[in-house]
Amino acid sequence: MDQNEQLFERARRCIPGGVNSPVRAFRAVGGTPRFVQRAQGAYFWDANGKRHIDYIGSWGPMILGHGHPAVVEAVQKAVLEGFSYGAPTEREVELAEAILALMPSMDMVRLVSSGTEAAMSAIRLARGATGRSKIIKFEGCYHGHADALLVKAGSGLATFGNPTSAGVPPEVVQHTLVLEYNNVAQLEEAFALHGSELACLAIEPIAGNMNFVRASLPFMQRCRELCTQHGALLVFDEVMTGFRVALGGAQAVYARAIPGFAPDITVMGKVIGGGMPLAAFGGPRAIMEQLAPLGPVYQAGTLSGNPVATACGLATLAEISKPGFFDALSASTRSLVDGLSAAAQAEGLPFNADCEGGMFGFFLLPELPHNYAQVMKTDSPRFNKLFHGLLDRGVYIAPALYEAGFVSSAHSANDIAQTVEAAREAFKTLQN
Ligand SMILES: *Cc1c(COP(=O)(O)O)cnc(C)c1O
Repeated sequence: MDQNEQLFERARRCIPGGVNSPVRAFRAVGGTPRFVQRAQGAYFWDANGKRHIDYIGSWGPMILGHGHPAVVEAVQKAVLEGFSYGAPTEREVELAEAILALMPSMDMVRLVSSGTEAAMSAIRLARGATGRSKIIKFEGCYHGHADALLVKAGSGLATFGNPTSAGVPPEVVQHTLVLEYNNVAQLEEAFALHGSELACLAIEPIAGNMNFVRASLPFMQRCRELCTQHGALLVFDEVMTGFRVALGGAQAVYARAIPGFAPDITVMGKVIGGGMPLAAFGGPRAIMEQLAPLGPVYQAGTLSGNPVATACGLATLAEISKPGFFDALSASTRSLVDGLSAAAQAEGLPFNADCEGGMFGFFLLPELPHNYAQVMKTDSPRFNKLFHGLLDRGVYIAPALYEAGFVSSAHSANDIAQTVEAAREAFKTLQN
């Protein structure tokens, strides 16, 4: 047994499935998870000492690569001043100001510790602010593992969802309506039926939890119009896309195409913590002032606004705010996606890919999918073979076909070229 296998065996004895978050267990693709020993720049080394080019980057946060010197320095400095106080600090004010400067749709923001917590709190806030209970979410979008959001579509629009996890009582998801992503007709029908009872519509504007699927412009425009018309709040879950697809997040991408476009509430995580546990949600003053201690919507956290995490987040945001950062990152991601597409085409494989900023997705499908059902038409044995073909060649992508990929500013042209070469070899093995 090699070191990864030994560690996995040991882990399975003391941690359920050997992992602290399910996708890490490699259940979808088979094989042994790689236990990370250390990471630097675009790479991590596993327990066998093998180097991997990392396209997960902690599922998005490591937009500067691992161990960026400016971020390491900020964290080291912060650690010496104390780990946690449970009292306010100047640094959390600075981070709040930095976030608000990057996303003009928000007047105020509250810091929390995980995306799950941020999304859960944003839904509570939307319900409290509107005095309504029902919410819309879309199939294939992930908003963390709060009970009311672990739900799949019921039968028809008149019925609400069914839990996707044991331990979630049906009553807890009875106010959650699950719709198909990018389906304008169904969206209109849902608002016609339930519009006056809807607190909010929650959406991943570019869905990264069904690989990489964009909300079409007409669909997004309709989401905005219907929410406004019916008094429901549009909640953008930008935990993945925030500070990742563009400095201003996916909302900046949509605002470029739809003049004046803005969500009501934004949920953030991942990149704003730069790899530390930090997330946030924010919106207009009138909505945010509904939160305790000003308003009736309760929300709290022992480690919220943690001084080490906020130092890490501030240093990360400072780096990505530098002129040209996103142009370079986007070009790098684009070159990866173009390289992979050309290599797949040369092998005559069905292949389509898309990207925005430092986030990408590719599909072993003849067309880009627009919803979850289409994504799941991927031939999964073929994807798994590709995954292991890349892993064997030192390229680490998500161990599941429904997850996005992430490029960091530490990925060099040479790293990308090596990745494309590895993919070319792996594609050859997919032919039969
Ligand atoms: C990762 C993610 C979450 C959950 O964040 P955690 O920090 O893992 O709790 C929520 N929404 C989206 C869109 C995500 O990608």
